Amino acid sequence: MAPPMNPKWNGQFSCFDLVAKTDMCSRTVVRVRDIEIGGNDFVVMAGPCAVESEQQLLETAEAVAEAGARILRGGAYKPRSSPYAFQGLGVEGLKLLRKAREATGLAIVTEAMSEEDVELIAEYADILQVGTRSMENYAQLEALGRCGQPVLLKRGMTATIEEWLRSAQVIAMAGNPNVILCERGIRTFETATRNTLDIAAVPVVKTVSHLPVIVDPSHAAGVRSLVPILSRAAAVVGADGLLVEVHPCPEQAWSDGNQSLTFGEFRRMMIDLQPYLYLQQEVRQLRPQLLTAGGVD
Ligand code: PEP
Ligand code: MN
Repeated sequence: MAPPMNPKWNGQFSCFDLVAKTDMCSRTVVRVRDIEIGGNDFVVMAGPCAVESEQQLLETAEAVAEAGARILRGGAYKPRSSPYAFQGLGVEGLKLLRKAREATGLAIVTEAMSEEDVELIAEYADILQVGTRSMENYAQLEALGRCGQPVLLKRGMTATIEEWLRSAQVIAMAGNPNVILCERGIRTFETATRNTLDIAAVPVVKTVSHLPVIVDPSHAAGVRSLVPILSRAAAVVGADGLLVEVHPCPEQAWSDGNQSLTFGEFRRMMIDLQPYLYLQQEVRQLRPQLLTAGGVD
């Protein structure tokens, strides 16, 4: 029997009819090349915050592929907190991402920052990312709805789950049902971490929506030492995958070095994740209700 859904959530989210879970549609599997997100696999997306150079990207792509990642992340267009910070390599970065895909077979996820860039980026990327700062850019969401590629929709840093799902509905209404949600931490009063990972958002979204949900522990934590344990937490609450920042030399990274893992740390994290992934698989098969709100028979 399905666990009882909180009646408040039911009323709150059912208006987003294209993304809300129903008896007819309880799970969306987003297919990216030969990868299924939201199916039975736990899909890890990893790579540098920003594409900096061919060598940096290719080395990272090879390292993360060898450690078990399926998708390479890397920003070619960077939304930076400071206008003086590195803004990304633009189309040169997209070309390097394409090269890394050819070299490793990894699929590519990269951010589109504006409506105008969507068409071009869709020629290079397998998944288009919406950053936290763009979650409510409706013109961009509508362009992504028409782009023909899956969209990774990050949660706005001050957005409620309701607002996040509303943005997913905008993309779906514009014609694109292939939306992957990404919890990347929200702004709270806490200062020990860069953002507060809202781990409860995973089971809430899993209970009310059919869309896949992944976790970005890197932007949530802001420090690399917390990334492995937050990744394990994501596996335990039933996330469909991760988005993790990895850099050949984090101290020299042009952006987000503090939260980027070295190759060795990423490899170790992937190994240490295994028992938790095994647990998730077992629970999914034997008692899937434990991965939803309620979690009672
Ligand atoms: C990123 O993925 O590098 C990024 C800028 O993320 P966010 O939009 O979550 O800050
Ligand atoms: Mn980053």
